[in-house]
Amino acid sequence: MTKGKLFVISGPSGTGKGTICSKILDQRPSIRMSVSMTTRTPRNGEIDKIHYHFTDHDSFRNLIEADGFLEYANVYGNFYGTPRKQVMEWLDEGIDVILEIDVQGAMQVRNSYPDAVLIFILPPSLEELRNRIAGRGSETEETMKKRLGAALNEISQVGEYDYSVVNDDIDIAVDKVKSIIVSEQCRVDCENVELTVDKYKEEL
Ligand code: 5GP
Repeated sequence: MTKGKLFVISGPSGTGKGTICSKILDQRPSIRMSVSMTTRTPRNGEIDKIHYHFTDHDSFRNLIEADGFLEYANVYGNFYGTPRKQVMEWLDEGIDVILEIDVQGAMQVRNSYPDAVLIFILPPSLEELRNRIAGRGSETEETMKKRLGAALNEISQVGEYDYSVVNDDIDIAVDKVKSIIVSEQCRVDCENVELTVDKYKEEL
């Protein structure tokens, strides 16, 4: 069976990458999204095992030691990681998988799984990002500065990615990411060529 494709989506918080991912999942139900593990506390409305597997530091560390993460990183003081087992099972079953993870995690995936396709979601401008974050209403001038600094730091690594999409208009951005996914699904992939040809030979 041909393997599934692994898609990594990153971008500064406030760029709308979460919205883009959930719209893609709604429109393409054959794609699965990995549920990350995190040591951060749940926000209002977040459900364990749906939004994240919420856990404590000891359990997180145990899974690191058992080599149970495809990647993990410390983001703003909390640990986040992609449990390896489920993602690998889906890929082996030919199912495409999306990871919504930060830049540090994306670089680890690039190293350990070079076939992964890395997509970076950009805000139209830092000013627009500032407005979107301010709209959430939870930032002081100090934390806003920190977040914009962190955003710029992430944006400066866009060159490590395969694709970048500016989220100016959410529907256009979703269409662009879907086009990237479809193109990658159609890519002639050396590892899968024999399997593809065999499928036709069997019919002869
Ligand atoms: P939040 O706490 O706002 O849900 O997420 C904070 C950041 O952590 C976001 O940039 C998000 O993409 C990233 N993140 C979420 N899950 C993972 C993960 O499993 N691994 C890594 N490296 N980053 C993650």
